[in-house]
Amino acid sequence: MAEIGIDIHKASAILQAGNLVAIPTETVYGLAGNALDPVAVTKIFETKNRPSFDPLIVHVAGVDQVARYTREFPEELRKLAVAFWPGPLTLLLPKKDIVPDLVTSGLDTVAVRVPSHPVTSALLQAVDFPLAAPSANPFGYISPTQAVHVQDQLGEKIAYILDGGDCSVGLESTIVGLEHGQLIVYRLGGLSVSAIEEVVGPVLILPQSSSNPKSPGMLKSHYAPRTPVVLGDLDQLMENYRQKGEEFAILSFSKDYDEIGKEKKVVLSPQGDFGEAARNLFSGMRFLDKAGVSVILAEELPEKHLGKAINDRLRRAAAK
Ligand code: AMP
Ligand code: MG
Repeated sequence: MAEIGIDIHKASAILQAGNLVAIPTETVYGLAGNALDPVAVTKIFETKNRPSFDPLIVHVAGVDQVARYTREFPEELRKLAVAFWPGPLTLLLPKKDIVPDLVTSGLDTVAVRVPSHPVTSALLQAVDFPLAAPSANPFGYISPTQAVHVQDQLGEKIAYILDGGDCSVGLESTIVGLEHGQLIVYRLGGLSVSAIEEVVGPVLILPQSSSNPKSPGMLKSHYAPRTPVVLGDLDQLMENYRQKGEEFAILSFSKDYDEIGKEKKVVLSPQGDFGEAARNLFSGMRFLDKAGVSVILAEELPEKHLGKAINDRLRRAAAK
């Protein structure tokens, strides 16, 4: 099992030695290694069972470090960095040669982010290299939002998990790039499109159903529990599955269903708050995945604010 602790010096020593540490961020827990060391980066792919065509996000301490790893920083993207960093926003920028091709899966752009979690900010200050860190879960499964989630799934494979408590956002970062002067959202995430558009005007959202290997966080089936997930109108789905005599659990946005036992339901936010729903989404899916039922019935949220990104994750969890 991995040790869970809050020792930043220990974490930085492990990273200096070329090994991996799980780190807390405001989005989800990451599996971090030295982004400039191809051997450490290889360990990340192996530990997660992640296909090498799925590029990694590089985490840096501050916006002033971006120029070390990128050739240019277009004004439109810089504006977003100024507005939202540190925070759940990842920017795609032309990479310098110092960033190994392994990190970007051979792409000419590198995904860069300044995370806002105080523990990981301190860690990034303590080391003299950036951290490549995908979510600290086996490829395709639900992302971890607590240290114990990492322990459950990767505890046998890594030495140390830095504990930063529950992730305050709970969804992966929103990924934005620029092509031919057009801002493009490649992955919906913890920063809402409406917040982005307030700063830079209308952006293009890449069709989220694509299995485009340019952005494999967008693979159709991803973020998925082992138990099948079916999306739709909850009342109707429950009726159907009752008739079929199948055992189910439910994931609802705000409505409580008294007739369903506590161990078989998750209400994401009784007040209908999108931020709270996002924070509870992945831990809720994990909880229901252990309920011992044959199917999880879930409903989509209203398509606004973080509801967009939450629905994206729910659809991917339901895709087979
Ligand atoms: P994860 O760290 O697991 O949240 O996944 C990182 C995601 O960032 C990948 O799955 C890609 O979708 C995206 N990504 C990273 N680097 C690039 C890049 N250079 N171009 C496009 N997408 C990228
Ligand atoms: Mg991931």
